[in-house]
Amino acid sequence: MSYTKVWADNEKLSKEEKLKLEKDGLEILNDIPQYAKDGFESIPKDQWNLFKWAGLYLQKPKEDGYFMMRVNVPSGILTNEQTVALAEIAKDYGRSVVDITTRQAIQFHWLTIEQIPDIFSRLEKVGLSSVGACGDIMRTIVGNPLAGIDPNETVDTRNIVEDVYWSFQKNEQFSNLPRKFKISISGNVQNAQNAEINCLSFVPATKVIDGVEVNGFHVYVGGGLSSKPYLAEEVDVFVRPEQVKEVTTAITTIYRDFGYREKRHRARLKFLIADWGTEKFKEKLLEYVSLLDKGENKLGNWNAGYFYGVHQQKQNGLSYIGFNVPVGRMDANELLELARISKHYGNGELRTCNSQNIVIPNVKDEDVESLLQESIFNRITLNPPKFIGYSVSCTGIEYCNLALVETKERMRDIANYLDEKVSLDVPVRIHMVGCPNSCGQRQIADIGLQGILMKNKEKKMVEAFEIYVGGTLTTNAQFNEKLKGKILAEDLNEVLRQFVTYFADEKLLGETFHDF
Ligand code: SF4
Repeated sequence: MSYTKVWADNEKLSKEEKLKLEKDGLEILNDIPQYAKDGFESIPKDQWNLFKWAGLYLQKPKEDGYFMMRVNVPSGILTNEQTVALAEIAKDYGRSVVDITTRQAIQFHWLTIEQIPDIFSRLEKVGLSSVGACGDIMRTIVGNPLAGIDPNETVDTRNIVEDVYWSFQKNEQFSNLPRKFKISISGNVQNAQNAEINCLSFVPATKVIDGVEVNGFHVYVGGGLSSKPYLAEEVDVFVRPEQVKEVTTAITTIYRDFGYREKRHRARLKFLIADWGTEKFKEKLLEYVSLLDKGENKLGNWNAGYFYGVHQQKQNGLSYIGFNVPVGRMDANELLELARISKHYGNGELRTCNSQNIVIPNVKDEDVESLLQESIFNRITLNPPKFIGYSVSCTGIEYCNLALVETKERMRDIANYLDEKVSLDVPVRIHMVGCPNSCGQRQIADIGLQGILMKNKEKKMVEAFEIYVGGTLTTNAQFNEKLKGKILAEDLNEVLRQFVTYFADEKLLGETFHDF
């Protein structure tokens, strides 16, 4: 019996669900070679949506036939040959634009259908894939960008993430989920994974079993952002490292078979968890896998995925160095240069962070000073100013069909303006998004800026922003809250300048925006 039998007979399925039953999203992979031969005009419009399963979205305007591609980078770990391959794809096909996303992935723009088979083949050669980066399927796995080098990690999650990721890649048992399914697996005690905003997260934990302290994970379920955000809740179970894949498979199966498929806006796992509660969810989970009760949660203070500066690794004599990539965007030549530098001074690896930044690991302590003299680090800096260094932005109207306003360049301009005008001893994390979706994770920012359209005095529709304040995770986790009113985009720089100047003038030394 096909697993879809569980829900296929439901007459109330949404129209998207009925389409998915007619053709599974992964089948687009079989069609792409022919479309590439016959050109964009040969692709029926009703097939456009399926390209998501291949990690491809049509850019704005769709009719022009340019694609955005998201490449999965599980846990943000890139080998040297992977980094070089990504840079060369961007250079050859993507007008040299490379974006780091808030889930450690890499995005290209301006791709045409004719180029996709060659890009797939280049990715496959270096062990990368864009399949599952979008669509109703398990997305790339967010993890600890310091996995294996983190002096404080409870578990080195590199092999676990690889194992789980590849067991779900192109897995037809799980290619028709009710909606997107975002997971994270991390042993980082500073919650660099942003555990509470994932559908499923494995967070560092310990438990004494038969008198021995065992490092493993606790499980959070039901988080997610968008217009109805939920913080994930902790389930009363302890997972040993060797059980992570089994537990992931069990929870994905529960979501696949019991997740809601009648109304698309209620289809994320968070709605099922909100209705069931974690007790009922645990009971269901234990039908699939045997687990002990919780141990001790090891999450400490949240670092929001920032690792700026030079830090000692767990390995003696080696350092990792965190750099700022302003709003996550760089040029392909810069990425090639980073690949060269990471090979020359380190072991060639590069790590991406969900703060849209990078880490170069495995640099011998005695080589750190020479590395920092490289000219690229005049722009990609290790000690950035307090605004540009902590600004995050989604793609926005430049490429995204859902965007209402421009974001990326605007966020960069605003942050640079604030750095010029306001001096601060603590960072203020500002996230900008171009619509109510949450690719820029607006909800967890100190200051969230969400693009809207509104009428100005002349009754013309113009770009504007809503402002939200006070988002944080881990201790006292909460989403930011909307301030009254809307700000015209043209007034945003000045309003924010006044806002953060007030904070700078009134705060105590060392006081953070959240504590203010
Ligand atoms: Fe597009 Fe909205 Fe996502 Fe920004 S948040 S990239 S505007 S869908």
